[in-house]
Amino acid sequence: MSYPSQPFINGVYRRHSSGKSTQLINPATEEVFASVSSVDHGDVEAAIQGADDAFRKGWRDLAPGRRTEILFNIAKILRENLETIAQWESKSIGKPIADARDEVALGARVFEFYAGAITKFGGQTLPVSRGGFDFTLRQPMGVVAAIVPWNFPFPIACWKVAPALAAGNTVVLKPASVSPLSALVLGELATQAGLPPGVLQVLPGSGSEIGDQLVLHPLVRKISFTGSTEVGRRIMELASRGVKRVSLELGGKSPNIIFADADIDVAAKQAPMSVFGNTGQDCCARSRVFVERKVLDAFVEQFVAVTRQLKIGDPASEETQIGPLVSENQRHSVEALIASASHQSRRIINGGNRPFQKGFYLAPTIILDTDVSDRVWCEEIFGPVVCIRPFDDEAQMIEEVNASPYGLSGSIWTNDIRRALRVARRVESGVLSINSHSSVHVEAPFGGFKQSGLGRDLGMAAMEGYTELKNIYVGE
Ligand code: NAP
Ligand code: MG
Repeated sequence: MSYPSQPFINGVYRRHSSGKSTQLINPATEEVFASVSSVDHGDVEAAIQGADDAFRKGWRDLAPGRRTEILFNIAKILRENLETIAQWESKSIGKPIADARDEVALGARVFEFYAGAITKFGGQTLPVSRGGFDFTLRQPMGVVAAIVPWNFPFPIACWKVAPALAAGNTVVLKPASVSPLSALVLGELATQAGLPPGVLQVLPGSGSEIGDQLVLHPLVRKISFTGSTEVGRRIMELASRGVKRVSLELGGKSPNIIFADADIDVAAKQAPMSVFGNTGQDCCARSRVFVERKVLDAFVEQFVAVTRQLKIGDPASEETQIGPLVSENQRHSVEALIASASHQSRRIINGGNRPFQKGFYLAPTIILDTDVSDRVWCEEIFGPVVCIRPFDDEAQMIEEVNASPYGLSGSIWTNDIRRALRVARRVESGVLSINSHSSVHVEAPFGGFKQSGLGRDLGMAAMEGYTELKNIYVGE
């Protein structure tokens, strides 16, 4: 398969477009390897109109069993093309190939889950007090705009597109400028799998140029966004004009809480990849580590030792665990934050250096002795940087955890089940794991408290988020 290079609208790659294009740069080599045309306002209008037509003229009324079949077919065809998609994804953003394969498989599983969910999701009958017959319907909204980021481009696209389609909506998908290939091929493969033209439109192009149009267009009923807090806020403001539905997933500054009674070896072995995985460009990265003081030294020693053994290098190699950052810009912003910590004379271990001449690589960086007001402690860094601080008192530690404006994810390590549950109930976060670093499960809701966002992806919660609830009363 050759790289797609045009927007995917109404079931075909659309030849025309603005004349503008984005060159895709392999972050590991800094070389341009493909170029994709950017949509203009005319393309966006055509795509939204086409999606609305497809909604009204068929998709919303298609028998649920037929929708199920199509979504299962999409999952199948994604699996058949897993290697190609994974290779493109790895090249576009520097993701280690083994991770890219897992993520394409995750995307296929998401389609399978929602294919099955279609016939298991519905309304209720309600015994209203005046008698008669009362029931609810879960109805699709219409056109959903899905705006997705570059850190997990394929799975995030799938976990917005699949439940939205399953619920009977049509979707206009806007991938991040640096990672449009896997989204485009999703459109193409879904069409081959039987999805009618117009039901999934894919619009490569700049968010700052077409974002407002997508959000403000009267035919777009819901915006589902994952990305930065800054853009999320703007989307929410603009959406308020049309009282549009929004769901936002905006990142975090997640805690990793290590109590002295935990299996310190296991916790310390797993902690580095829970923050440095995907080169730290992960909204669930456990970037603030709280360690009970009596095990601090032992924990840090093992954390550093494990970090030094991580395989950093060519994303195309099967063994690589950590690739480059996505872009030179991203590396600059991470380096600036590391510099702010070194200006304050914080203890920095193993870090801040560029391990290779070529590629946007940055060595994993461990920062100790930070103050709770330090930028590195407070801000989402989105790079391979961790801060580790000791704590003495459980209640005070929880206050520090909750002092963050974010609340997406986190881990708690302890062998005391009562403590684990007590802390889990107090931490302000949408997703937590106990004695694990696993945050994302296809079957379970995923999303944040506070400024980490609004609404939920995945699980049946996502189906709810892509429907309107209607109540119908029948008089006696
Ligand atoms: P971003 O600007 O929020 O990008 C996310 C998506 O939003 C991309 O598709 C982007 O398109 C689009 N977008 C940009 N401006 C828009 C606008 N005005 N209206 C509508 N859509 C718009 O994020 P970024 O600039 O790539 O990364 C900056 C920081 O955001 C990161 O360092 C990280 O802290 C955070 N981030 C968080 C997540 C997460 O998973 N929660 C993901 C990515 C980034 P373009 O690519 O065309 O700009
Ligand atoms: Mg941006």
